[in-house]
Amino acid sequence: MSAQQAWIEYRPDIPEEVLHELTDFFREHKGFVNEDIKRFISDTDSFMRKGSYFIVNLKEFSAWANKEPPARYSSKTIIVDRLTFYVPYHFDNENHGIYFRAMKLLEDFVEIASIFQEVLKTTKFIRALSGGSEALTLRLLGIRKNLKSLVNSLFIEFIVFLYAHSVAHRILEDISYSIECICKAGRFLYKMKYSILNSKDEEGLCYYAAFNALRRYMPGVLKRSKKAERLSNIFFPIISEFSWGSIVSINFASTAILYVYYVLNKRIPSASVRKDIYDRLSMLFNIFWKLYYTYEEDIGPPNVKPITQRVFLTFI
Ligand SMILES: [Zn+2]
Repeated sequence: MSAQQAWIEYRPDIPEEVLHELTDFFREHKGFVNEDIKRFISDTDSFMRKGSYFIVNLKEFSAWANKEPPARYSSKTIIVDRLTFYVPYHFDNENHGIYFRAMKLLEDFVEIASIFQEVLKTTKFIRALSGGSEALTLRLLGIRKNLKSLVNSLFIEFIVFLYAHSVAHRILEDISYSIECICKAGRFLYKMKYSILNSKDEEGLCYYAAFNALRRYMPGVLKRSKKAERLSNIFFPIISEFSWGSIVSINFASTAILYVYYVLNKRIPSASVRKDIYDRLSMLFNIFWKLYYTYEEDIGPPNVKPITQRVFLTFI
């Protein structure tokens, strides 16, 4: 295989054979809902009442939700993901930002949490997810019995994963913007136009970044982060018995579970990117990632609000 065709892909660190079995398990349990888990999720009416501050339904969303994705995102498109909209500032300087699609998100979440709890009844799966570690096995057995802890812990990691994906879209937009500025400043003939990648490559890179971000959290770090606190405030009324005390780090397992549910069961594109694209972009991308995601610095173009202030919920 030539270097041109090489790919970089996120893949959970568990045996392929178990990954296949987990994929089948999720497929066989498609649509399964544990009513005890569902009870932790507020009904729509009370949620809309309590969460109104963060709910924004832009008029464009309904039309965009049903469109085929464009070959390349641009100043004329918004990015429609399964559970989020990303509105580029190139598209709308006022209303840009990340919009979590609340109802779809909850539907997926209840299904994932319900099947995850079933997965935790099989010793072979627990052993693979915990990488043979006794401490991690005990942690999984603990949340299997404690549904409140399972729901709260999984929910935080789930929304952080989705957030990371959207932040990656913002970073690619900022990289495009920076190159636009450099082209203008240098009066180059070449004019850069957002986006720098085609939409397929952009999605692959954003999912690759999101899976890696979730997997790499050290125990307890996410729970103490500004990011998790801010995101949980936005979602706070959704989970009826939310408490920080009930949260344990299960990202070693949740990353694999999300990968199986979304990638291996073909709900989202693969979390992979061509190596030549990755090699060209990785230095800039990683610098932006540290500033945006890790340190949450308020950076960006002039007159564009920081992404941390532009996170909302929508019902579309
Ligand atoms: Zn996306």
